[in-house]
Amino acid sequence: MHTPSPLLSCQNATLLIERRADEALPVAARAQLWAHLRLCPYCRRYDFQSQFLARNARAAAEARATPESSLPAATRERLARLLAANVPHLPPPPPADEGTAGGPQP
Ligand SMILES: [Zn+2]
Repeated sequence: MHTPSPLLSCQNATLLIERRADEALPVAARAQLWAHLRLCPYCRRYDFQSQFLARNARAAAEARATPESSLPAATRERLARLLAANVPHLPPPPPADEGTAGGPQP
């Protein structure tokens, strides 16, 4: 027989931890999560790891978006043409500019 408990289950605690990453939790949910995290070392570990992953994923995504980490447009276009010519199942690259996709490269 299921006895209702004021405490969260670990499953609900981890759901709240994930929801909290995207939105502010209502006060009651925050209090329940806080109480659960005080009592449950497994969910504390999950919380720590979840925040660690979110922080590092965000940092990695921001690092990838810097101009220094992307190839110049001409190089991207040349690579796309080489791949399309040498890998038969790839679709042809979209033209960067109209009429210049097959033109000579410097
Ligand atoms: Zn737990």
